[in-house]
Amino acid sequence: MSTPTPESAKTSNFLRQIIESDLDRGTYAGRRWAGTPGDAAHHAQGAPDPAKIRTRFPPEPNGYLHIGHAKSICINFGLARDYGGVCHLRFDDTNPEKEDTEYVNSIIDAVKWLGFDWNGSPEAAPYQASDYFGFMYRAAEHLIEAGHAYVDEQTAEQMRASRGDFGKPGVNSPFRARTPAENLARFREMREGQHEDGSMVLRAKIDMASPNINMRDPAIYRIRRATHHNTGDTWCIYPMYTFAHPIEDALEQITHSICTLEFEDQRPFYDWLLERLIEGGLLAAPAPKQYEFARLNLTYVITSKRKLAQLVYDHKVSGWDDPRMPTIVGLRRRGYTPAALQLFAERIGVTKSDSWIDYSTLEGCLREDLEEKAHRGMAVLNPVKLVLTNWDEVFGSQGGATYLEPCSLPALPHHGHEVTPGAPDSGEPPAMRHFSIGKEVWIEREDFEEVPPKGYKRLYPPREDADGTAIAGNRVRLKGGYVIECTGATRDAHGVITEVLATVVPDTKSGTPGADLVKVKAAITWVGVADGVSAEVRMYDRLFSDAQPDAGGKDFIESLNPDSLKVVSAIVEPSLANALPDQKFQFERHGYFVADRLDHVQGTKPVFNLAVGLKDSWGK
Ligand code: ATP
Ligand code: MG
Repeated sequence: MSTPTPESAKTSNFLRQIIESDLDRGTYAGRRWAGTPGDAAHHAQGAPDPAKIRTRFPPEPNGYLHIGHAKSICINFGLARDYGGVCHLRFDDTNPEKEDTEYVNSIIDAVKWLGFDWNGSPEAAPYQASDYFGFMYRAAEHLIEAGHAYVDEQTAEQMRASRGDFGKPGVNSPFRARTPAENLARFREMREGQHEDGSMVLRAKIDMASPNINMRDPAIYRIRRATHHNTGDTWCIYPMYTFAHPIEDALEQITHSICTLEFEDQRPFYDWLLERLIEGGLLAAPAPKQYEFARLNLTYVITSKRKLAQLVYDHKVSGWDDPRMPTIVGLRRRGYTPAALQLFAERIGVTKSDSWIDYSTLEGCLREDLEEKAHRGMAVLNPVKLVLTNWDEVFGSQGGATYLEPCSLPALPHHGHEVTPGAPDSGEPPAMRHFSIGKEVWIEREDFEEVPPKGYKRLYPPREDADGTAIAGNRVRLKGGYVIECTGATRDAHGVITEVLATVVPDTKSGTPGADLVKVKAAITWVGVADGVSAEVRMYDRLFSDAQPDAGGKDFIESLNPDSLKVVSAIVEPSLANALPDQKFQFERHGYFVADRLDHVQGTKPVFNLAVGLKDSWGK
């Protein structure tokens, strides 16, 4: 399990209150747990359950998990962790058509990466709902025998028509009065493959006049000849989700079954079914209880596996792990950390009413996490060469080769301090990053202005203003290096600046005595021409330009942002080029970046993704 969030950082919510009250009242104190999921008889042989509560995260393995699932994972695993419980990872794989082992593996990875383990032990295999098909079949036969279910041979169309609607009660099926013996025989024929797909279904027998349409004899088993990824061709009938889910929870001795609000109307059936199976002695009491919370809606993001799949299959993105995708693999490749996502889940909290969370809340959580941890480094994203024309004069040149002066800066601003070359590092790991300055360095093109706008503090050459007053070329510090004074620039035939020219001011090296005697108003980032490394930097922006891309049935493809990815050729300092894949950095002044997990090659082919910009925009 992940490190617990400090008690002080946790806000109470309605789920915590329910759990705390259940623990106070001992609602689940008498439960037994046989070590594996099972029926009443199985658990009766077990010891009192050492887990105070049991929650579960039950994804359907039909796609990659997204940020909404991350919320659900943090809630379910977080509550189990905080209250001495266990959270189950269970694949809800009762629908044979859509599931795939690729998704199963990606879900396991995502939960682990977020920092959680399941089923009481880090080595435990996740549970699979399809392992319970045998019990579900038995439960269905029990309902039939007890007069609580019947086989209906109406067509789908007839069933829809006889269900009624909000204002109109349903009408009983002509097959509703069949005897349990007749129903049992028919149901067994269904299982044996004697009837066509869709020709009949098993329905719970509840109340066709119920104000809750979900209670009007819902279908619980259907005929479907499909090969299942776990059970193969063993079954040609499959349980419906609404029937399967409560049973899965009960077999696993779940206490608090937490789901999203759209299942609220299913709760009466959830309770009805478990009551029937507990009174029949099939399932252990007390029954799990379902609680609903509002799903996550995040601006500029879609959280539907189906729609995300469309982006992938229509090649609108490079894959499920495209850094613009809100999938957990995408967020991870973008530079998101488990800590940032956990902080996000904590911060947005749990409520019972739907709302939209601003995307900046998610970004803020990443910034907060990386601010303390990410090593700093300098990268020039739009480089122009700066030539220090007096360099050789000041430093001399050795055997024709221009002199290089070693420089260093702390990897983390709050660790260590700038030191003179050769002095021992502060000892606080990780300490210093090393690079060198010479006659030529790369600077950002925007750090030079021939005629500076008002308030511009970076490089501009000497000039005369309108009334003939001489204005000196501006002085700035090359961060971690020297103070320099701008003297001019060279241009090509099109007027594009090819080189910025400046002179180095001697005895101003950062960290040396007297370096601060020459005052400057700005320090600019740079990378040496001699040791800078070319890098591919992928500048990401939001994938959609509409804050609610799929709200109200809108076609989300229409609001795809055409500028969501810009690839730039940058120059980075040596410490960045030597990054390990997945390592995060703050590129000073530009934002937080991550070495791409797949494409970055340490030392030789650096590739970085923009994770999130800095909050403070770069000053003038
Ligand atoms: P999708 O609609 O994207 O396919 P789903 O709800 O079908 O999502 P499941 O795999 O069935 O996905 O869900 C696993 C768990 O994650 C469920 O308990 C579900 O309620 C929860 N979940 C899914 N989307 C969100 C969301 N946006 N916010 C919070 N929880 C979510
Ligand atoms: Mg679903």
